Amino acid sequence: MKFRKPDTFYLTSILPPFIVRLIFSTIIQKPRIDKRRCKRCGICKEVCPVGAISLDTFKIDRKKCINCYCCHEMCRFNAIKLGRFL
Ligand code: SF4
Ligand code: SF4
Repeated sequence: MKFRKPDTFYLTSILPPFIVRLIFSTIIQKPRIDKRRCKRCGICKEVCPVGAISLDTFKIDRKKCINCYCCHEMCRFNAIKLGRFL
């Protein structure tokens, strides 16, 4: 099939992988659970497609997370914050 590739494809194909990772790690926002707001309803854990959320520790596994932001969209208590957290 013929389709037009996104502009980011060309950027990522000309730069070395470590530069691409560095750029994306600085510009892409990551989710974090705000413990004070969280009601432990479990919706975010249920909708996360990669099982990256632990409500026991309120941690999101960065290695598993694909930044889809489903958790952020589904939390009705506004307890999933997005930012450039380390
Ligand atoms: S959806 Fe929001 S309130 Fe519910 S467990 Fe997740 S972070 Fe907590
Ligand atoms: S952003 Fe997506 S993959 Fe990452 S924790 Fe939230 S639901 Fe899971």
